[in-house]
Amino acid sequence: MGEFDLIARYFTRPARRAVLGVGDDCALLQPAPGTQLAISCDMLVEGRHFFPDVDPFRLGHKALAVNLSDLAACGATPLAFTLALALPRADDAWLEPFSRGLLRLADAHGCELVGGDTTQGPLNICITVFGEVPVVGGKGQALLRSGARAGDDLYVSGTLGDARLALEALRGALPLPAEALAQARTRLEQPTPRVALGQALRGIASAAIDVSDGLLGDLRHILAASRVGATIQTELATSLIASGSRSAGESAHISADKQLELILSGGDDYELAFTAPASARDAVEAASQQAQTPVTRIGSIETDPGLRLLNAQGQLMPGRFASFDHFA
Ligand code: ADP
Ligand code: MG
Repeated sequence: MGEFDLIARYFTRPARRAVLGVGDDCALLQPAPGTQLAISCDMLVEGRHFFPDVDPFRLGHKALAVNLSDLAACGATPLAFTLALALPRADDAWLEPFSRGLLRLADAHGCELVGGDTTQGPLNICITVFGEVPVVGGKGQALLRSGARAGDDLYVSGTLGDARLALEALRGALPLPAEALAQARTRLEQPTPRVALGQALRGIASAAIDVSDGLLGDLRHILAASRVGATIQTELATSLIASGSRSAGESAHISADKQLELILSGGDDYELAFTAPASARDAVEAASQQAQTPVTRIGSIETDPGLRLLNAQGQLMPGRFASFDHFA
């Protein structure tokens, strides 16, 4: 199978919302009047972001999911994406499930594949997504990292910790019962981008980011961009614990301390961390209901720079949680 057969067989579908999809020198998109384009790009590299033997269906899902998660963090509505793919060989047994996992998630979000590039080389997947956000009264409605203000509440969607738990178990760093591993592994390999929640939070949240490198590290980006500080009540954050991590804890395979570490500095969960004025608590709750995505209030934004953790007794905890950095 040659390059063009491969593209035709696995990555070419009729254009829907796009003016022009795969097949010409450029794809053509027509943004709706009164919208801005939101654009994001994420790359997945074998050995760095995924294990060489990962299920290709799940890998296709994850490659798009991490990009949709960036759109979610901006409150954007997915429109389209491009796929740049380097592959060691044109292997149907890999391409068929990969494209199925990718396009199934794409269809679920009405996000169409409009182009890309295909080349032979070490497995590397790079997706660029395009979304749209409305402009109201001349002002784009995208959720930014820079909008948090002292007095705002701090929230996290869904649950945290399972992706990192699975990663450590798969690396053999931590023993895990099969059932807890299966639960955690699905979160690592098939994350759910919080697209509906991001859109529902437009006009309500003051700042947002998706949690890819670990809550504390990602939160620091909001604090830096907004020039504020924050306090997290770890007692509230503990309820963010994901199912696999919880059952591993109940069977005493991991300690309460380790669970807190997974929540605060585990990466790859793709939840949203966001801030909103305290006056918007009802609106946040309504957005959470509308998006059918639970959210938990875990702390508050303050003028004092830096990030503080309080234990159940209200005492300051020493800073010992790091986040992921490719070059650290
Ligand atoms: P060019 O030579 O202009 O770069 P290509 O020959 O690489 O074009 O690609 C032909 C068409 O197939 C283009 O429309 C391109 O966007 C599309 N395409 C290539 N690879 C992919 C892919 N992996 N997924 C989707 N579309 C692709
Ligand atoms: Mg090309």
